[in-house]
Amino acid sequence: MANDREHPTIAIVGATGLVGRELLEILPGSSLGLGTLRLFASTRSAGSTLPWRGAPIPVEAAGPDVFGGIDVVFFCAGGDVSRQLAPAAVVAGAVVIDNTSAFRMDPGVPLIVPEINGSVLDEWAVPGIISNPNCSTIIALMAVTPLHRAAGIKRMVVATYQAASGAGAAFARELEQQAKDHVAGRPYTQETIGRQYLFNLFSHDSPIGPDGYNEEERKLVRETHKIWDDTTPAITATCVRVPVLRAHSEAINLTFNQPLPEDEARKLLAAAPGVRIVDDRDANRFPEPAIATGRDEVLVGRIRADRSQPPGMGLDLFVCGDQLRKGAALNAVQIAERVFATAATAARASGR
Ligand code: NAP
Repeated sequence: MANDREHPTIAIVGATGLVGRELLEILPGSSLGLGTLRLFASTRSAGSTLPWRGAPIPVEAAGPDVFGGIDVVFFCAGGDVSRQLAPAAVVAGAVVIDNTSAFRMDPGVPLIVPEINGSVLDEWAVPGIISNPNCSTIIALMAVTPLHRAAGIKRMVVATYQAASGAGAAFARELEQQAKDHVAGRPYTQETIGRQYLFNLFSHDSPIGPDGYNEEERKLVRETHKIWDDTTPAITATCVRVPVLRAHSEAINLTFNQPLPEDEARKLLAAAPGVRIVDDRDANRFPEPAIATGRDEVLVGRIRADRSQPPGMGLDLFVCGDQLRKGAALNAVQIAERVFATAATAARASGR
């Protein structure tokens, strides 16, 4: 590592964006023992400042020569910026934690949700790139993985209800603007999204392939297989944007290889780290984006045996998770904590 394990120098590339700002919220509470913090964005924001522990710190223009002396770089400025700059950060000796899809399917790059496959990092040597999975994938797998471990997922069918802020600050701003337009009786502003979003929903805004699946749906399938290190589960998804500002929701239908009764599934979910059951049938209270917003846990409810399948062989769930926290910034910080804890253990073992 470039510098100091006890007080690492940390950088955020894309600090002015939604994920970058969420990292600024989460980092002070992390176990990383922060040293210096450096913030980077495009030349548009260079020269501005962001508040950090009560004082403004400057935003610098990102470039290949800025990474000397930095221990950890969180990349959250889009795939092109990661592809362009992450290799330079690694050459400079940094651990790169990449929130974009740029390197996720690279066989040499770990794709990590610490609660699920964090142990992959025990064998991983710094410096290098670690990818943060897609937000919908993280949120689904936090709930489904304990069930997969117990009974084996034969088939998973996912329908997502994804928030505006999952597509970045400009998207979320335009949804808010459409709400103001509605109140003012004006035509809806359509500069970023190009359609009515308020009081509407639409198929996910990622490119559609010749097979009819969009890129978000494909990510959910292939990233799940990589994280589980198992390509046998059959997975299909339909991903949709809904006019919610923050936190993604997902309806998940599961088919198991072995029977898993509903009460057993509930026990597994209750014991799963980072998962909270919200499942009050009497009060009709289940996970909602408004409840998940700002929370670290993935909320799971509507837990019920799928009655279209033989007893114990199928289950339905509804999950909500804050895609800016567990779906992005929080998971990234947890990866860094895991890397530094592992590095510290290795250093103690070798007497360094
Ligand atoms: P965002 O709000 O649009 O922010 C984009 C950030 O990238 C801004 O800080 C912007 O800086 C910076 N940037 C753009 N071009 C740049 C360049 N050429 N060089 C350096 N910085 C540049 O986007 P976001 O929602 O935070 O998402 C960031 C990444 O995380 C994306 O790859 C996204 O897919 C991924 N992600 C997002 C979420 C989510 O919920 N939003 C969840 C998981 C993963 P300026 O201020 O200078 O424009």
